[in-house]
Amino acid sequence: MNTIATLIAQARKIVIKIGSNTLADSNGCINEAFLNEFAEQAALLISTGKQLVLVSSGAQAAGLSTMSKWARKQDIHYKQALCAVGQVELMGAWRRAFQVHGLHIGQILLTRDDFGDSIRTLNMRNTLFTLVDEGIVPIINENDTVGVEEIKIGDNDTLAAQSAILWSADLLILLSDIDGLYCENPKDHPDAVLLEEVSNISATKTCISTGGTSSFGTGGIATKLDAAEQVVSYGIPMILAHGGERALEALAAGTQRGTAFLVGL
Ligand code: ADP
Repeated sequence: MNTIATLIAQARKIVIKIGSNTLADSNGCINEAFLNEFAEQAALLISTGKQLVLVSSGAQAAGLSTMSKWARKQDIHYKQALCAVGQVELMGAWRRAFQVHGLHIGQILLTRDDFGDSIRTLNMRNTLFTLVDEGIVPIINENDTVGVEEIKIGDNDTLAAQSAILWSADLLILLSDIDGLYCENPKDHPDAVLLEEVSNISATKTCISTGGTSSFGTGGIATKLDAAEQVVSYGIPMILAHGGERALEALAAGTQRGTAFLVGL
């Protein structure tokens, strides 16, 4: 068994974050076929005794495809309104996908303030434990309709890391549009090398690049490394992998490559 398959086999409580690029199809609509396939794989894992919490992006994409006439509106209130519409569509699609397998879902919308307040944190933790104990799949997203810049978490990688820590998860899996962490951005450097195991994140940060003009810290990969640093410091390993093509199944079987961020001894 490879490292990723071993991490999944050993974990009982798993947080899985799915990025917008993975959830949306080429037209920018929610890819229901992906959701259905994902729910099927998740249900299988749950039937083997695993507990899952999902962090799902995609509210804005779902909103845009529902309210296409708003596509050009850049006003913050329209963006938030789009998320209000899209969140319903997104959760509707998740509900239908899991219902087929006899599973209920529960929606949790969070902002940064929620993680800074000890009473709210305790309530969130209790709700997560109750939902999972009752066999329900919690689906977390940032509450974009109330999230003005000052109170936004800003990206679901951080939200997923904080949720994994809050729930005392055994493993965090980030599903993205990339196979894992490379020494350079593979979209600019096709020969970039995939780093399959990372045990020292700060040292790794100094020897990889995000390529092009985007400096380290602005690219999408930076928040994934920050998420890894956060969870690993709490003893939770993280896997970064491509979300397409029955990824959960393939990762668990050890047939798909990715990056495993390991907890030091
Ligand atoms: P998601 O929407 O799944 O959260 P992001 O677009 O935020 O994903 O981040 C993933 C992107 O980061 C990749 O598509 C890739 O182009 C870019 N990237 C930049 N540098 C690297 C690197 N060193 N290794 C992997 N991906 C990188």
